[in-house]
Amino acid sequence: HPPVPRSARAPRSSPPAGGHLHAEAISAWFGERKVLDRVSLDMPPGAVTALIGPSGCGKSTFLRILNRMHELVPKATLAGRVLLDGTDVYDPQRRLTEARAAIGMVFQKPNPFPAMSIYDNVVAGLKLTGRRAGRAEKDQLVEESLTRAGLWREVSGRLDQPGGALSGGQQQRLCIARSLAVRPRVLLMDEPCSALDPTSTRRIEETIGELADDVTIVIVTHNMQQAARVSDQCAFFLAEQGTPGRIVEYGPTGAMFENPQDQRTSDYVNGRF
Ligand code: ADP
Ligand code: MG
Repeated sequence: HPPVPRSARAPRSSPPAGGHLHAEAISAWFGERKVLDRVSLDMPPGAVTALIGPSGCGKSTFLRILNRMHELVPKATLAGRVLLDGTDVYDPQRRLTEARAAIGMVFQKPNPFPAMSIYDNVVAGLKLTGRRAGRAEKDQLVEESLTRAGLWREVSGRLDQPGGALSGGQQQRLCIARSLAVRPRVLLMDEPCSALDPTSTRRIEETIGELADDVTIVIVTHNMQQAARVSDQCAFFLAEQGTPGRIVEYGPTGAMFENPQDQRTSDYVNGRF
């Protein structure tokens, strides 16, 4: 049976404890070249936000800015603010690892540590955050994270096998589990299903729907059906004729698809470019 669209789900009884991500007037440059122009977007807790738009309009750049990965690119600069639960993610007093732990990221190509065991892949994130955990706590965290990522039943009997031995879809769910192990408030996903077959894609979509009750999710997708299935709200990015990327339109997903306010949104969501 097809997954229940997000919009048709019963609202959760209480809002999640945190995970309110807010981007304010984000502009970004690679060297002299401006690729984003004053992009503002509210990503409320308990919601899935989809970023859609043609290639090259700055979706990945925007996503990387949200968890400070943009800083890793030489000559990359930015203006604007990112707030997580009211705190500036770029506050120099805040440790980088703290921002990265609170705001996890999953990429297009599944990238588990291939030679490392499934178990060690899941707990790998703890090292980055400097958190120490005993064996019992780690065991519990591995089970919990793999369960939340929808992978526990498939791998519980072979946690010592290398991550690289799993199928593509399983590797992607292992990457989701690795992100979840540090208990992020936000999970950023950059085309997480683009490299996967339709069955694996559906399973990841189901997982996204379940996670969204506790973790704020921001997903970049080129698949309009996927955006419609998984997201509560949608932002349409566009970079017209060499100008930097902007948000043309954003709002509740149903409205964006059924009644877009901008002709360019209508053209894009209906596959006209
Ligand atoms: P999208 O994810 O929407 O396809 P990107 O954020 O990847 O768009 O890219 C936005 C623009 O920034 C593109 O024109 C791209 O060529 C440029 N860009 C992306 N990454 C870099 C980089 N590391 N150095 C220089 N330019 C880049
Ligand atoms: Mg991209």
